[in-house]
Amino acid sequence: MREKIVAGNWKMNMDLAEAEELVTKLKLQMVKEPEATVMVAPPFTNLYPVFKALKDTPVVVAAQNMSEHESGAYTGEISAKMLKSVGVKTVILGHSERRAYYAETNELLEKKVKSAIEQDMTVIFCFGEELEDRKSEKHFELVETQLKESLFNLPKSAWEKLILAYEPVWAIGTGETASPEQAQEMHKHIRTLIEKNVGKETADKTSILYGGSVKPGNAQEIFAKEDVDGGLIGGASLKAVDFVEIVNAF
Ligand code: 13P
Repeated sequence: MREKIVAGNWKMNMDLAEAEELVTKLKLQMVKEPEATVMVAPPFTNLYPVFKALKDTPVVVAAQNMSEHESGAYTGEISAKMLKSVGVKTVILGHSERRAYYAETNELLEKKVKSAIEQDMTVIFCFGEELEDRKSEKHFELVETQLKESLFNLPKSAWEKLILAYEPVWAIGTGETASPEQAQEMHKHIRTLIEKNVGKETADKTSILYGGSVKPGNAQEIFAKEDVDGGLIGGASLKAVDFVEIVNAF
């Protein structure tokens, strides 16, 4: 059985007071032992207060990014060691917004993933095609290149700390979700690629999340697909009732 995961990516939203309010509501509304592992990824400034507030719950706190460097003269950057020092052992890497606005390449992401895993962090690795790629039927190939260039040269053991998140760029924040069939088709493709490049056991064990306009109204049918092991939720993770309903969709 693969781990089911529902993770909320708050992106650049929530100041400290708003974050504390959201977490208070989550604690009140969430069942004590949800079927899925629940994660929230607040912005850096809220990591420690959110970690402290959720300490007595099973909710995992993740960061949205980290530096590939260990320490030193990298103004504005945050290292794995710093994250761990405030209780954070999970990090989202490769989000399409980081790729698009901060020029994060497959090559840089390979370095970031390596660095995170060397520091014993868990990585939620995001990838996915743009609308143009899908229209020209290059989406399967594009995803293969993203995985090949960032993940398939890692040692097999690294996969114990890897969670994948397929996020088609055209479905992020647009209200347009991939259909459950489109998600299943791609997730199956991804699992086959892992099997070919890493091994069957790893392919069977790796959780692959879907992200892109997941809402309370569509979570259940997406999560029901065989190769979809959960979701990475943007907009709908900012409202406690919506996020809790998505968590309960398992
Ligand atoms: P939305 O759920 O707002 O489409 O965002 C998805 C996402 O980018 C999660 O990382």
